Amino acid sequence: MLNPNDIRKEFPILEQTVYGKPLIYLDNAATTQKPRCVIDSISQAYLTINSNVHRGVHHLSQVATEKFEEARDKVRAHINAGDKSEIIFTRGTTESINLVASSFGNTFLKAGDEVIISSLEHHSNIVPWQILRDRIGIEIKVIPLDSNESLDFEAYKALFGERTRLVSIAHVSNVLGATTPVKEYIDYAHTLNVPVLIDGAQSIPHSNIDVKALDADFFAFSGHKMYAPTGIGVLYGKSEWLNRMQPYHGGGEMIQTVRFEKTTYNELPYKFEAGTPDYVGAIALGRAIDFMNEIGVDAIAQHEQALTRYAVERLRNIPSMRIFGNPDSSAVSFLVGDIHPADMGTLLDRLGIAIRTGHHCAQPLMEILGIPGTVRASFAMYNTVEEVDALVAAIERVAKMFA
Ligand code: PLP
Repeated sequence: MLNPNDIRKEFPILEQTVYGKPLIYLDNAATTQKPRCVIDSISQAYLTINSNVHRGVHHLSQVATEKFEEARDKVRAHINAGDKSEIIFTRGTTESINLVASSFGNTFLKAGDEVIISSLEHHSNIVPWQILRDRIGIEIKVIPLDSNESLDFEAYKALFGERTRLVSIAHVSNVLGATTPVKEYIDYAHTLNVPVLIDGAQSIPHSNIDVKALDADFFAFSGHKMYAPTGIGVLYGKSEWLNRMQPYHGGGEMIQTVRFEKTTYNELPYKFEAGTPDYVGAIALGRAIDFMNEIGVDAIAQHEQALTRYAVERLRNIPSMRIFGNPDSSAVSFLVGDIHPADMGTLLDRLGIAIRTGHHCAQPLMEILGIPGTVRASFAMYNTVEEVDALVAAIERVAKMFA
């Protein structure tokens, strides 16, 4: 069993007060706080090994390159990818999905081809496909929700046709905090030889990910939602796809030879890593992965799921409470009566509680649910039952003010 009070000691930021109240940070789906060891790994890298990677014969460059590649191997092991050449460092989930939309799109898609996404996608898994639609005329098909506010698997199957070329869906909804059984979605797509991209931004911080067991063709995630710094993320892709895909950005590192007439490209993963990579960020992501493993991903998952269940149970008892979807991971979205989410957020903030309000970068889902936005509380390994109690008490207080 994980003890959040011990873990909190690693997160100095959580010790502060806000408006004279102890900070209760429940905005982890937006970004998690960083443990001391991750912050130290950044300063250590700059203090002792900083040098541009892959290009130097000198000692520092070699050490920096070793550490950078070590981090890639940590990511590989963490998601059980077959080979570290399948791990591409990006700036985050958004860039990873844009990479696939652009490179997979340029290589394999033509006007009239179809990409399936879902009703509960983050804008970062909608807009890149729309840009592609505007550029080359693909069509976007959207998996609807069922009456239970989950994705409708039967409707998903019915969306496939002759021209379906790719499925791109979230593993865990950042709004509903609900897990989609993506393995079933992947298996079905594969029976029709359609590859699948999984947006893992909200799943990898809270569960063990095994891309081989999932048989995902692409898996995208962000470091900053899993205790690592901002600006570093990952695209996992099966080499059979990545090898055939055109590069995304052009520049240094992604080339083998450059002539004015013709350029040949580097091998994987470097073909997709143009320019100086965020090697310090990658090293810090490696440290964050070590940190998660030291605590145990299963223990983290159990703790966060227990907090979520407890929060749902307690929130349900508040009059006029509406909880959306079927939260089973680490985030709960709700509304209380007709209290506007922004009002709720502002008043909770005054009580020291940081939650997120609004459309959560999922405007189409808000439209489907017929609401302007929600209030979302999202948990991490350092959150406690007492913090959930404080959240519930604060919501009750706000609800009384509005009654
Ligand atoms: N996908 C999901 C499900 C998310 O929750 C987020 C961020 O909240 C993203 C994609 C985008 O992540 P990033 O902004 O780190 O690129």
